[in-house]
Amino acid sequence: MECSLCGSPAVVHQRSSGRHLCRDHLLGSVESRVRRTLREDGGLPPGSRLAVGLSGGKDSSSALHLLHSIYGRRPGVSLVAVTVDEGIESYRPRTLESARALAGRLGVEHRVVRYEDVYGVTMDRAVEGGESHPCGLCGPLRGGLLVRAAREMGATHLATGHNLDDEAQTILMNVLRGDAARLLRGRVDVEEGRLMPRVKPLRGVPEKEVALYALLRGLPVSWEECPYASGALRSEVRGFLNRFEVDHPGAKYAVVRGFERAGRGRGGPPLGGCVRCGEPSSGELCNACRALVGRGFARA
Ligand code: SF4
Repeated sequence: MECSLCGSPAVVHQRSSGRHLCRDHLLGSVESRVRRTLREDGGLPPGSRLAVGLSGGKDSSSALHLLHSIYGRRPGVSLVAVTVDEGIESYRPRTLESARALAGRLGVEHRVVRYEDVYGVTMDRAVEGGESHPCGLCGPLRGGLLVRAAREMGATHLATGHNLDDEAQTILMNVLRGDAARLLRGRVDVEEGRLMPRVKPLRGVPEKEVALYALLRGLPVSWEECPYASGALRSEVRGFLNRFEVDHPGAKYAVVRGFERAGRGRGGPPLGGCVRCGEPSSGELCNACRALVGRGFARA
């Protein structure tokens, strides 16, 4: 198959546009969508310090590479990277190696923070102790720790590598759960200055194109899968969206854009402080403390 734009060999069929793209046009297309997303979010004002959550996987590594190419030499904006080590021996050490390699290659300050040091628990021990829903514990802990570490590094914004597929899945899952508060809190501009503003540069780029981007740019990426990955609802929603996208190209993009338009300017419920750790929370306990207390790893 040939590139629809230049006739060179194509590396991808971009379902949403109907085009086949060669290496160079795919890279250019990803980069221009990321720039547009950042522009639509208002960019970063001078004095910003952007922390990038860097797992070492394809998404966060591509996000760091792209953000570095855009902001790396911009006066008044600085970048740092944070990796969370959940304590999963068969998985995390190799992804950590990739994260360190990329941060080193780009010359970005990099910090690793461990569940063990902060929460006194590792995912391996939690699972050995009978934890039957590892992601239900791990997700809130990681979210909380990323924000905390970013703040300690002086960051004003936190970037994550969520791609279009992740975002569309999360929106549908929150709809199916009837979780309006989480739906609204996902927005960049609803956080009322209390939570750290989020930047999701890849939220307009499908997962397949992010994976190709990482490969074609030669990023030192780990393709390891977490042994505890679960989430029956997410995999059902993923399957549904992938099937729907085949018959209705652009459906994932429509879900994300439609939600963004509907949510623009609206806030979630007011946030108070978690009674245990003081982090912003819509309830008495923040998500991380609720996950720890509910499983007996901490006291309220
Ligand atoms: Fe944690 Fe689940 Fe991700 Fe594994 S898949 S790192 S357990 S959230």
